[in-house]
Amino acid sequence: MEKHILSKTTYIKGEQCLMQLFLTKKFPKLRDRIPAERLAIFSRGTKVGIYAQELFLGGIDAGPKHYSQYHKAITLTQELMQKGQDVIYEAAFQANKTLILLDILVRNGDKWDAYEVKSSIKLSDTYYKDAALQYNVLINSGVEINSFSLIHINKEYTRNGEIDKKELFIITDVTENVKSEFENVNSKIEEKLDSLNSDAAPKVTLGPQCFSPYDCDFIGHCWKNIKRPSVFDIPSLELEQQFYLHKKYGSLSSILENDDSIDEYQSTEIRCQIDKQDHLELSDDTMEGFEELYNAEEEKYALKILYFIPALPLYNNTKPYQKIAFAYAIMPLDGSSNAKIFISNGQNNPEIEIIEKLSIEAEDKVFINLNGGHDDIESFDLQQIIDNGEYYSPKMQKDYNNKSLSAALGNRPQWMAIESDIVAAQYYDEILRGHSKSVEKLNLIKDYLINEVNLVKQFFDFVSQ
Ligand code: SF4
Repeated sequence: MEKHILSKTTYIKGEQCLMQLFLTKKFPKLRDRIPAERLAIFSRGTKVGIYAQELFLGGIDAGPKHYSQYHKAITLTQELMQKGQDVIYEAAFQANKTLILLDILVRNGDKWDAYEVKSSIKLSDTYYKDAALQYNVLINSGVEINSFSLIHINKEYTRNGEIDKKELFIITDVTENVKSEFENVNSKIEEKLDSLNSDAAPKVTLGPQCFSPYDCDFIGHCWKNIKRPSVFDIPSLELEQQFYLHKKYGSLSSILENDDSIDEYQSTEIRCQIDKQDHLELSDDTMEGFEELYNAEEEKYALKILYFIPALPLYNNTKPYQKIAFAYAIMPLDGSSNAKIFISNGQNNPEIEIIEKLSIEAEDKVFINLNGGHDDIESFDLQQIIDNGEYYSPKMQKDYNNKSLSAALGNRPQWMAIESDIVAAQYYDEILRGHSKSVEKLNLIKDYLINEVNLVKQFFDFVSQ
């Protein structure tokens, strides 16, 4: 059997943009470094897929153990089907130079039921495209398919004792949909193979597809000629609006002079980018809040709470993707002592313990946070100053998150340090599952908490001046 050219991943990349497929296959070295946040999301999908296999017990895994073993996986799948195996996990098939690995294949009389598992709580267009491709390859491989279903997580499920997998997952039959797409998918596969057969890169212009449905892997390469700062550095503008303004006016100054659709805040951000100057103008409400903080008798403390969002409900009375606090740090804003840190061991729902501890701490303290509070703990959230447009720095560029703010305040990223709550949450999840580098990861979470409370202090001092 000749080596496949397309896989489910590369097909979906090609659906987003033919150029992305072309670069992936022919110039993989031009790919951007994958952000740690995205790696965290990949790992979540794998865990849910394995868990969902238990809906159909007794299966044999036919999937390749190494990327060079696809051929072996296809042969093993065929053998298992012929030998009467009723349930096969990671069943491998290839047709039209396109390889798929189907999560679960279940015998149903003379035919087969196919299931693809998604770790999310709703089915997106991409999942339907993915299912249509898998169905196409199954049919073109000669498999008689009775039904094709997508399995995803039921966000309404609440755990009560052992997880009830039948309640946790929703199975949606998409057979009619994938059948109706069969011919269309044949053409799309052909289009992609033709494009890869050519030496010339496909003609594609930059557009919203660079960020939708996923951030493209080649933004660094394709966007290198966009002069900075550009309209794409203005976070308050929607993506579609950014492309429209870029095409119509080009430069930021031309937008400012000629376009009357942009609002006051958007023009402030544009002006900040052109003049390379920060904007800081506190509203009456914020000033009032600050006055209260200064008049409070209690000591002022920076607070940072970290959350993780497990796809599967780990604790009783929790739902899938419920945000659960797992750690916090507090630190006096006058610098009189170091940060005090608590990270739960996660054996029981950590949020309960964290709220209890913080409620006691709160008796003689006023908390100030920056994207790191909790609804049950009274705290002044400095993030509102950024969200309301009272502060903006051109160094923040595309985002309003803590990482951007830290850069705006002149902090340099530290080697190996955690840079976002999402990555801290991923590390915690790995620690709970007994990761071999748990001690190192725990220390990185501690360092991250210290950096975050220091950032609260730094921004508070900056705004107070
Ligand atoms: S950056 Fe945009 S144009 Fe370039 S390959 Fe990616 S999606 Fe296509």
